[in-house]
Amino acid sequence: MDNSFVVYFSSHLAFCKADIEASLSNHSMLIEWRCIDSIEECPVSNTVLISEGELSGTDVRLLAARRSFVVVENWSLEVSVKWIERGAMNCFSHSTPSLIASYLFSEFTHYTRTESEKVDMSMFQVVIDTIPVPIFYKDHLHIYRGCNDAFCDFLGYSKQKIIGSSVYDIAPKDLAGIYYAADCELLRRGGTQRYEAEVRYANGSLHEIEFNKAVFMRPDGQPGGQVGVMSDITERNQLMRKLEKASATDQLTGAANRRSFDQVIHEEWKVAKASGSPLSLMSLDLDHFKRINDQYGHSAGDTALKLIVDWLQAGLGENDSLYRIGGEEFYVLMKETDLKSALEKAESLRSGLEKHTFMIQDNEIKLTLSIGVIQLGMEIILDQILELIDRALYEAKNNGRNQVRAVSGKRMS
Ligand code: GH3
Ligand code: MG
Ligand code: MG
Repeated sequence: MDNSFVVYFSSHLAFCKADIEASLSNHSMLIEWRCIDSIEECPVSNTVLISEGELSGTDVRLLAARRSFVVVENWSLEVSVKWIERGAMNCFSHSTPSLIASYLFSEFTHYTRTESEKVDMSMFQVVIDTIPVPIFYKDHLHIYRGCNDAFCDFLGYSKQKIIGSSVYDIAPKDLAGIYYAADCELLRRGGTQRYEAEVRYANGSLHEIEFNKAVFMRPDGQPGGQVGVMSDITERNQLMRKLEKASATDQLTGAANRRSFDQVIHEEWKVAKASGSPLSLMSLDLDHFKRINDQYGHSAGDTALKLIVDWLQAGLGENDSLYRIGGEEFYVLMKETDLKSALEKAESLRSGLEKHTFMIQDNEIKLTLSIGVIQLGMEIILDQILELIDRALYEAKNNGRNQVRAVSGKRMS
């Protein structure tokens, strides 16, 4: 300790003070001695060494308001008890200065430690209570040693209930086991831990929470426990999901877009290659769609595109996915579908649409499709597939539209 402490002492005890100082000289406790003529000169709550002979009847009443040590000539337990009962902290013989030194050392050490902790802890608690995200800390035996108000709100328990408890005392048993295992793992490994979990608050609401935990160390280098912060990422995740959906969806029709196709085709092709199941692709282009815009206006064209997407979706199976690739061009990716089945499906869409009539702004509108179909060969690259299917579609258009053309998905030489 490098603190200096003030001790008031009566001039009669100067000899005693020198001995006490000598006893403490090797213990880096600096005492600032202040000589007084009466106990009243020692401020309330301060430490004072006073000899019994100096204390008059009125002085005795001042003992308890100070940290008073009475030094007597003939020490006995009875004498000591008498002074302690009168308000002294303790009573010593003037012939045992090292004992007084030891007692002073102990008193000051504990007093200053608890005082500084009190100040630090209350400030610390105010600070963490102000933080609006739940914070907790546990010791190396996984006992909660502190938390903030937000953590109490989250659990629906008071600090009194939480502090001193283990996770088994405050969380549902199944969750407690998971938390405990995660805590043990973190404490064993050290460092930090981050994970997301769905958590139900005490008020019943469900939240997506990101846990950030870290091990803190004791001054001796051993793990002292862990501190955790819970961040509510519900809104952030909802926004992320919305953005993800928006970036994969065509705004006008709600169909998946080209970007989404580019992702899915790679994943599905990998799966198909690994499992050996067939994968086919259909490219569809509305015939003479420009005429719809020209004849009925652009907004009727928009409505037609929405309706055609709904119509196509209704005609597809659970293994098929529709993508709007461009203006009036679409792909349908068909899992577990060989060329024959893909052709049948394409023909069924083509002939179905031919017979269908859309009602748009009181106009009966007929639409037809040209379709190219390919089964993806295992050894070919994607760019070649798309080139081949374009070629099939071009053929269907050139041949008079409203028809299906298949192309072999083998490697192009
Ligand atoms: P083809 O049979 O050769 O495919 O003839 P087409 O008219 O369908 O083909 P073309 O590529 O010449 O024109 C496509 C038209 O689709 C052009 C454009 O006006 C229309 N189109 C593309 N996207 C949209 C859209 O989002 N809304 C509307 N209303 N029209 C669109
Ligand atoms: Mg087109
Ligand atoms: Mg077209």
